[in-house]
Amino acid sequence: RHPSIPTNTLGFTRRDYEGSMSTLCAGCGHDSITAAIVHACFELALPPHRVAKLSGIGCSSKTPTYMLGQSHGFNSVHGRMPSVLTGAYLANRELAYLGVSGDGDTASIGLGQFCHVMRRGVRMVYIVENNGVYGLTKGQFSATADRGSKSKKGARAADEPIDLAALAIQLGATFVARSFSGDKGQLVPLLKAAFGHRGAAFIDVISPCVTFNNHEGSTKSYDYVREHNIAVSALDFITGREPIEIDYAEGAALAVTMHDGATIHLRKLDAEHDFSDRAAALTLLERCRETGEIPTGLLYLDDDVEELHDTLGTTARPLNALTEAELCP
Ligand code: SF4
Repeated sequence: RHPSIPTNTLGFTRRDYEGSMSTLCAGCGHDSITAAIVHACFELALPPHRVAKLSGIGCSSKTPTYMLGQSHGFNSVHGRMPSVLTGAYLANRELAYLGVSGDGDTASIGLGQFCHVMRRGVRMVYIVENNGVYGLTKGQFSATADRGSKSKKGARAADEPIDLAALAIQLGATFVARSFSGDKGQLVPLLKAAFGHRGAAFIDVISPCVTFNNHEGSTKSYDYVREHNIAVSALDFITGREPIEIDYAEGAALAVTMHDGATIHLRKLDAEHDFSDRAAALTLLERCRETGEIPTGLLYLDDDVEELHDTLGTTARPLNALTEAELCP
């Protein structure tokens, strides 16, 4: 390895966090999210072999192939990623779990699974790469498509869209954020903080589909998001007001490895939004739904959570390290 190639504190290069070459359409928002995940994991110095990435079906669910090539991975059936992730987490708490899904995978066929994994508080980072369409099957509207928007083939989205961020808050997720695939400056710090969270961390990432999204009335095209994006709050390591310090290394063995003992600094940029206030976050999302704005940043955080394993009193060790007596008491 050439000495000029940057490494993180564990000696890994950025290449160690990459995967195989993307086969998505050129310009797809999902590839930007992949790049942000690679960036975040590199900066966190997460050992690649300590990450498990899981997905369902869809363009979004192909993306784990394009990142973290040396980590564990499982491409499950449509909408069933949360169950598989929950099982893996319960069997081995020593990995960082990354669930990558799409709006079709999560808000339609997998909606029941999404609800229960959020309310259960499984320690994970759950990302929805949200474009409002089924890109893999040629652009049918998904359940997050904007009501009244008109597809390129002339169909109109007739139903009220599901707001996954609002739903996640209502269901009990303790870290809920929204971001935009074109805003790496915001998305990377959000991802880094989410990996340090001890409960269910959900990030709804607006991720334009360049092939099927530029339709009339869509709030998920690049232009619309850039024009209407309102940064409610963001995580920023350099600027901002009212810093809130959260040391995830405290009492979380995984975080010590991940962050090399560092403290994550959350800085609230908009003093009007209190992301510790659950009701305020829901009110904000409802108001924005009426105005058509897209709030991005950290919407809601409850940092006072314990890891599900601790709540259940389950073992800290992987299953294959247990004795027969421990497995069958
Ligand atoms: Fe991305 Fe859309 Fe192409 Fe799928 S169809 S890869 S979502 S741009």
